Amino acid sequence: MKVLVINAGSSSLKYQLMDPATKEVLAKGLCERIGIDGRLTHKVPATGSEYTFDIAMPTHAEAIQAVLSALTDADHGVIKSMDEIDAVGHRVVHGGEKFSASVLITDDVMDAIRECVPLAPLHNPANITGIEACQKVMPGVPMVAVFDTAFHQTMPKSHYLYGIPYEYYEKYKIRRYGFHGTSHKYVSQQAALMLGRPLEELRLVTCHLGNGSSICAISRGKSIDTSMGFTPLDGLPMGTRAGNVDPAIIEFLMEHEKLSAGEVIDILNKKSGMLGISGVSSDFRDLDTAIEDGNEQAALAKDMFNISVKKMIGSYIAEMGGVDAIIFTAGVGENDRSVRWDICENMEYLGVKIDPEKNKYRGKQMDISIDWARVRVLVIPTNEELMIAQDTAAIVGK
Ligand code: AMP
Repeated sequence: MKVLVINAGSSSLKYQLMDPATKEVLAKGLCERIGIDGRLTHKVPATGSEYTFDIAMPTHAEAIQAVLSALTDADHGVIKSMDEIDAVGHRVVHGGEKFSASVLITDDVMDAIRECVPLAPLHNPANITGIEACQKVMPGVPMVAVFDTAFHQTMPKSHYLYGIPYEYYEKYKIRRYGFHGTSHKYVSQQAALMLGRPLEELRLVTCHLGNGSSICAISRGKSIDTSMGFTPLDGLPMGTRAGNVDPAIIEFLMEHEKLSAGEVIDILNKKSGMLGISGVSSDFRDLDTAIEDGNEQAALAKDMFNISVKKMIGSYIAEMGGVDAIIFTAGVGENDRSVRWDICENMEYLGVKIDPEKNKYRGKQMDISIDWARVRVLVIPTNEELMIAQDTAAIVGK
């Protein structure tokens, strides 16, 4: 089976054509500047070739058309015709309380995704546009929606409610939803394989640390708590997001800086976190370079990040009454050894101890704990596209 995985943003669209059974990626790429002019970057992993085309993309429909043309092109294509695409899997950011698993897209499902727009006003409209464009260009091909929030729908109510009047949950569904669910689910399954134990026996803390970061407590295969909340702004300080702050700060800043609520939220989303503290960059590699040059603010930003992750891991271990493995994934988690080291430092009392030699590797699936450690620390490169393709194949194959 060949599945086309689509991740549509407001002016961009990422795609991968893959075989979920063999995990082979036949082609992947990115459409950028949709609605502006249009550029397609198309890669064929088997040959290592990469192509860039400037193609007019007034809407997402032309972008999908360009992807299909690239996939079926006589020179750089990987399939003979569009008929070889058995199904399309779409990443959808917010499924609200309606979706606790991936689903076949029907008219009713589209209505339900539209109803979730107020919960994710920046993301869901783009995802809907991507689905509608595919439906227009590929009529009759089954499509599946895979939600970032679905995996966390197993959280108990006591864990997902905020301490605000209950009527706001009833009226507006204000609660913790959590995001990065596809990634947390994927690495938890891989961890069970690495440990050679059933997922249903394990207590895991998965740390998705990238430009956006979230942590998840996974008890016996189910998400029971996660650090992102009603929106992805909650939880850890991230590349540009503040993470959790005292909400009274918002009113204080509005008053003293003469800002609207929207402007303060914008600062918390785009100018805070690593960028806001360091004044250098949101990118961890830039922070490392600045730290090497003696920049104390950059070092402070990373220290804040590391201690926030450590605190969250500790609280999740307490919630689960123990832990079998801590997993690091995404750009920072997979690559940044100093982050992993600092987070796991002084945790021997819990049975956590990283081997400095094994910790030198990056971007590779491996167990980096010392041999005697009771709790395994694992680095697992995430693969959200594979998870989407596998869910899609399972649903369409039914
Ligand atoms: P992601 O959002 O998962 O793509 O992760 C992006 C983040 O990962 C950026 O802050 C990058 O600086 C960071 N990152 C990627 N590669 C490395 C690396 N080799 N060392 C440190 N950080 C890295």
